[in-house]
This record gives sequence, C-alpha cells and structure tokens, in this order.
Amino acid sequence: MKNQSKKRVGILGATGMVGQRLIHMLQGHPYFEITALAASDRSEGKRFADACTWRLPFERPAAVADIKVQPCAPPLDCDVVLASLPSDIAIEAEAAFAAAGYPVISNSGAYRMHPDVPLIIPEINPDHLGLLEEQKRKRGYDRGFMITNPNCTTIAFAIPLAPLHQRFGVEAVMVTSMQAISGAGYPGVSSIDITDNVVPFIGGEEEKVESEPQKILGRLVGASIEHAPFKVSAQCNRVNVQDGHLESVRVKLSRPATLEEFTDALVSFRGLPQELKLPTAPERVIIVRSEKDRPQPRLDRDAENGMATVVGRIAKDTIFDFKFTLLSHNTVRGAAGAALLNAELLVAKNLL
Ligand code: NAP
Repeated sequence: MKNQSKKRVGILGATGMVGQRLIHMLQGHPYFEITALAASDRSEGKRFADACTWRLPFERPAAVADIKVQPCAPPLDCDVVLASLPSDIAIEAEAAFAAAGYPVISNSGAYRMHPDVPLIIPEINPDHLGLLEEQKRKRGYDRGFMITNPNCTTIAFAIPLAPLHQRFGVEAVMVTSMQAISGAGYPGVSSIDITDNVVPFIGGEEEKVESEPQKILGRLVGASIEHAPFKVSAQCNRVNVQDGHLESVRVKLSRPATLEEFTDALVSFRGLPQELKLPTAPERVIIVRSEKDRPQPRLDRDAENGMATVVGRIAKDTIFDFKFTLLSHNTVRGAAGAALLNAELLVAKNLL
C-alpha cells in the first residue's frame, strides 16, 4: 500500500497502557497512519506529549508528540477508530462512532458478547466478520460498524484450543491464569497490594474467560454464531510480573490423541493472517518449547514481537486428557496487536 493511500487511524484511550502499545506498533505501519488521539477530559486539549506519561521501554514516536488530544466522541479526523477505553466508557463512545460512520475496532469488553458483534481472532474465525451485515441492518449503521477482540486471558488459551478443537474436538477446559500487572491498566493494582504477593481475584475476569472461547470457536450459521458446546472453568490470579500472562491449562478431548498428535496440532497451526502475510501476523502462531522450565514471562513474552503464543510442559493429565502451560503477551497479542491484526484483516477483506 502506497503512503498516500494509508488509512487514517484515530485511537480512543491513546494515553493508556494499550493505547501506548498501539502507538508504538503503528509506527511505520504499511497500511495505517495515526491522525487523531483521544482520551479523557484529564488529557483533552493537551499535546499528547504533555498528556501522556510514556511507560514503554521504547522512545515515544516523535510523530505523535504534538497531536492535540481530543474527547472520545465523533467527529475525529480519521477513517477508522482503534478503541482501548474502559468498558463503561466504551459502551457509549464506540456506538457513537459506529453510528457516525466510523469502523470501530475495540479492545474493551463492552460489546464482545453482543450476538451481532464479531469477536475475532484472525487466525481462528475471520469468517465471523459475516455478522457485520446483520449488525448494520439491526443497528441502522450506514458505513460504520464495530468489531472486537477477546479479553487478553481468553486470547492466550483460545489460540491453542483452536487447532485442538478442529482436530480432536474440545469437551472441557480448566485454566488457571497468572496475570501480569500491566493487564490492569495504569496505575492498576496498588504496589502495596502486589509487591511480595499474589492476588487471587480479578473482577469480572473469570466470567469473561469462561464465556468468550465458545463464541470465538463457534460457527457462523446464517446471521448468528452457534457457540461451541464445551465448558470452561477458570481461576484468575494477579501476579507480580510486568507483562505476559502465564496460564496452566487442562483439556479434555472428544477423540483420543497421542502426545505427538497433540503437539503437532499446536505446532502446525496457521491461519489466514499467515497465508495473507499480514504485517503484524506472527510467522509461528504457537511456539512449542521442550525445556522443562519454559515458558516464562521474561524469556518468552517477546517471541515473534509479542505475537506468538508460547506453549510448554505438554503432558498427559491424570484427570483430563492433556495439560500444558502457555505464555502470551497481554498488551501485545492480548490487546494492541490483537486489534491491529483485526484492522489488517479488515483491509485485506476490503472492509475498511
Ligand atoms: P488504562 O491504562 O487505564 O487506560 C485507559 C485509557 O482510557 C486512557 O487513555 C484514559 O485516558 C482513557 N479514559 C479513562 N476514562 C475515560 C473517560 N471517562 N473518557 C474518555 N477516556 C477515558 O487501561 P488499558 O489497560 O489501556 O485498557 C484499556 C481497555 O483495553 C480496557 O477496556 C481493558 O479492559 C482493555 N484491555 C486491556 C488489556 C491490558 O493488558 N492492559 C488487555 C486486553 C484488553 P486518560 O489518560 O486521559 O485518563
């Protein structure tokens, strides 16, 4: 795509943890350029450089420093909106942008489980974009629409579940998460609560993790999604790690699999983003490590620029069929990278 035909992007929640990742990942992007940034009235009217305390270990891109932060309401000078707002704010803001004719690609939980809103992981269910016609009809949208990506903890284990479900059928899943502090946004969990500690509660998280995978792995039938029938049981914990969610997963399959077949299903998993060579797509969707003490957040979160899901410790389970441990970068594969890959998919499908 030539420079002059780049799509103009506006970011809602640009000053937050996910917003900053989006700005970093959009730097020099072949399809997109940032033309608008929006946040709360605490930031509104300021230069981005003054409104945002930059917290990533990379330089803040010079191109955004002087952009004036605007309110999260239309109009914005852009062709497409990438949204990373708290859910209670997103519910009104995202619908307002879609109604005003903007495609909205959201990170928040506000619309994920609405039956007419695609909940997309491009490697798994790009066909769910087929819901958009029904969404536009039902909500009276003209050019605008909304698509979402899953919760960061869900994305992490939905990715390995997809090839397992395709090949062997998934009957039941148990997942225990050890979630990074960046997942709570900024300032997130207080330092007094998280230092030398694990907090065995993340509000609303287990409910999301137990319901989103069935929609993602469901089938588009006519103008709706028939959810996959398996059950998920989740326990979510906040741990003292900066970035990268670690998850212990146990899975019960419908058909028997050997350890080799199980591992091969994960290693060989590819999807449409790999076929289309989308700019943010990881070459290896799932990396399987054989060392007995991997994956680990510090060592594995940046694999494939943070877009790979790293799996290890695969073994037969004494109660379920298999168990394994995975690691996924929560603000990259679980948030900014997820939204960006969705945006690239929309370009590839001529939907932007
Ligand atoms: P965050 O660091 O707290 O940032 C929140 C952003 O929203 C900031 O830009 C903030 O602007 C803006 N905002 C807050 N209140 C607002 C209001 N009343 N009106 C307009 N803008 C407002 O949060 P985050 O971690 O980036 O998360 C953003 C969204 O992504 C959430 O829905 C979260 O659940 C989802 N998500 C996060 C992760 C993760 O790993 N962090 C992963 C997946 C999904 P100001 O700076 O002006 O206050």
